[in-house]
Amino acid sequence: MDEIKLPIDGKLPNRWEIQYYTLMGKLFYWLKILRGNKGKKSNPLNCDMEIEIIGDIPGGDITQNTEIMNYIFKNPLNNKIIESATKGAPLIKLGSGSNPRVMITAGVHGNEIPPQIAALKLINELDKTDINGTVYVIPFVAPTASSQNSKLFRNQNLNLVAHNPGTPTNNVLKKAQELEVNSLADFHATSTHPSEDSVIYFLSVASSKIAFYVNKKSNSRLLAHIYNPGTLIATCNTNNIPTILCEVEAPDGTASNESIEVSYNQMKAFLRYHQIIT
Ligand SMILES: [Zn+2]
Repeated sequence: MDEIKLPIDGKLPNRWEIQYYTLMGKLFYWLKILRGNKGKKSNPLNCDMEIEIIGDIPGGDITQNTEIMNYIFKNPLNNKIIESATKGAPLIKLGSGSNPRVMITAGVHGNEIPPQIAALKLINELDKTDINGTVYVIPFVAPTASSQNSKLFRNQNLNLVAHNPGTPTNNVLKKAQELEVNSLADFHATSTHPSEDSVIYFLSVASSKIAFYVNKKSNSRLLAHIYNPGTLIATCNTNNIPTILCEVEAPDGTASNESIEVSYNQMKAFLRYHQIIT
């Protein structure tokens, strides 16, 4: 569970950094458990739902992706979100607008299917639930890539260019800043590396605390981020938005009920960390 695997390009965290941040995550996890639900909590409110379109990001026809369509319910809400995706990246706001305000993203890689389906499932679920605070969900960060079941968006890996203005992932950062979100979680699927259900933290205490909690609550392996300035997790964290990245094991371009469930549980653990749901 707490093992760390190192690889891929980018700057490797050293052994001491990993031990330090894992220890910090663990410490805050136990403090949180000991405090229980005694923390300040406002009354959960009836969930208002709004759909906005991030028009700076090109839209796409999600119905062309048969794998996504095979798994989602064809209900009015999902139809509306998919229709919105033809005009840009849909941004669904759930909750009153009050703190805590968090953002969930999926589809940074368009062929990583389970999180995109899980994000729709989460929106449908939260729409019927009283929540504390506000959740912004972007189920398709790059609708064009999702429609093509493609990892790349216009030959770009969007998780390497988030620091470049004008890219969809940079537009996500700008939107998160505009909405003053306190924390963000970016959801992926993996078939090569790390190729297992995992939660990845940036080398900061704020990020490791969240990741350690998700690791404990969703049985996802805890890993340290291999620093690359263009990942969404790095770009957000360096802009003071504590961010984690979650991976679910699934072959590219495909989903299964099991992988969708794992991704969905990672999302719920992230929301529980912030006491948005119980
Ligand atoms: Zn990915």
